Amino acid sequence: MAMVATADKRDYYEVLGVDRTATQDQIKQAYRELAMTSHPDRNPAPDATDRFREIAEAYAVLCDPAKREQYDVAGHAGVSERWSTEDILRGFDFGDFFGGRFADVGGIFGDLFGGRSHRVPVKPHGADLHHELSLSVEEAAKGGERLISITRSDRCKTCAGSGAKPGTQPITCTECQGSGQKQQTRTEKAMRFVTITSCARCFGRGTFIESPCLSCHGSGLEFVPHQIRVQIPAGIDDGMMLRLVGQGQAAPPAGEPGNLLVRVLVKPHPFLKREGDDLYTTAAIDFASAALGSKIEVPCLGGEKVKVTIPPGTQSGTGLRLRGKGMPRLNARGKGDLYVVVDVRTPTDLTQRQRELLNELKFEMHKKAAVAPSVET
Ligand SMILES: [Zn+2]
Ligand SMILES: [Zn+2]
Repeated sequence: MAMVATADKRDYYEVLGVDRTATQDQIKQAYRELAMTSHPDRNPAPDATDRFREIAEAYAVLCDPAKREQYDVAGHAGVSERWSTEDILRGFDFGDFFGGRFADVGGIFGDLFGGRSHRVPVKPHGADLHHELSLSVEEAAKGGERLISITRSDRCKTCAGSGAKPGTQPITCTECQGSGQKQQTRTEKAMRFVTITSCARCFGRGTFIESPCLSCHGSGLEFVPHQIRVQIPAGIDDGMMLRLVGQGQAAPPAGEPGNLLVRVLVKPHPFLKREGDDLYTTAAIDFASAALGSKIEVPCLGGEKVKVTIPPGTQSGTGLRLRGKGMPRLNARGKGDLYVVVDVRTPTDLTQRQRELLNELKFEMHKKAAVAPSVET
């Protein structure tokens, strides 16, 4: 099968000459026009076939909402990871715009479809499983092992994934002769339509089970609860994804299992805010302590308490750095820092005595301010 390296592929939107926000109708219109002019029957250019194939592939992806979304998110690689070229073009109504003129679908797409004689079977892949893991900031800082309970499909033990009753074998599907595909041609108003779909009898497998396995009813799968150990790296952050290769759904009989994708959600901390490897916390102090300086106790990660010196004359909003009291650096040595942001509070309910003292202070401060300029002159 001729596979084009995804790096060499042109952007599908560029191929069709449409905007990324184009509607399905606009995409269809663009394809229709391009397909008409570049169809090898009409266009004598030597690269017409390649060009036409490129257009058809771009259209086949963009006209399918699921494939288009995957392409928008992950590009060519995202599409080819999930669908083979065969999957992309299968079930796509090529004959639609050409009628009788476009009878030889196999001629143009022969190598994409693999052709019956030199068909290379694509190894089926099991679906990925998704799981969310909620952690506190402390747990994210510590890391370590976690057990995740999932129920996933495994290869059926009774039939080893074949789906056939032990002692029997799946037979080649008589409907599609083992190709897994069905090609239907119909003529309507002198237009010839060729539709290629997955074989409905064997669901595209190419084989058919006459006596199904009694444990899995022929699916080849059994659903089994699993406890899966996950190693959480210390310092993991909210939204990060852990990928456990081969722990997803099985794909019998010969396919590879999918992956288990664990998304980490770190719950907000009651008083610590994280930014990268650093943590931030706020310490409220009264203005006398801010002016005169003082020592306060600040709660850190994991309940630890650290004494912090507030230097005399500290302004509100000042950040005091505590080295190495932040989060462990993910996949690296050391830790981030903890910043204690000082919040100087203005008192609101003053006692009589406090009011007197403050009045005295105010008087002193104003006197000092009034005297100061006269010293200079
Ligand atoms: Zn079975
Ligand atoms: Zn079949």
